[in-house]
Amino acid sequence: MAGEPQADCLFCKIVSGEVPATVVRETDTTVAFRDINPQAPTHVLVIPKVHYSDAASLAAAEPQVTADVLREAGGVAADEKLDETGYRVVFNTGSGAGQTVFHAHAHVLGGRGLNWPPG
Ligand code: AMP
Ligand code: ZN
Repeated sequence: MAGEPQADCLFCKIVSGEVPATVVRETDTTVAFRDINPQAPTHVLVIPKVHYSDAASLAAAEPQVTADVLREAGGVAADEKLDETGYRVVFNTGSGAGQTVFHAHAHVLGGRGLNWPPG
């Protein structure tokens, strides 16, 4: 059922604790943890605890949780002192855009120069 944990989903396993992660923030609805293959000095993923394949599907079903994810992305940026220097929040959507884990997640990237447009 939509939103339910998926047995084969890596990020559902991080939510349940079955797969370890370096968690930096957690709320009733979200978990934020360091990316295992960081692309910037700060690279944190913020995920909803509920399973949806991408950000748009999450937003359609759970607008409040989507807001929680974005608020927590801002919280990560503040914790990491990125809110003054600037940071980027990215939702890769679809394999053509580089999405590899099909559980919605926000990348929070900062601590270095960030080119625009991204590659
Ligand atoms: P995406 O390519 O947008 O789907 O992002 C998935 C991200 O998850 C990538 O940046 C990976 O480096 C990251 N990742 C994969 N496995 C883990 C893990 N076990 N713990 C933390 N991050 C992970
Ligand atoms: Zn999942």
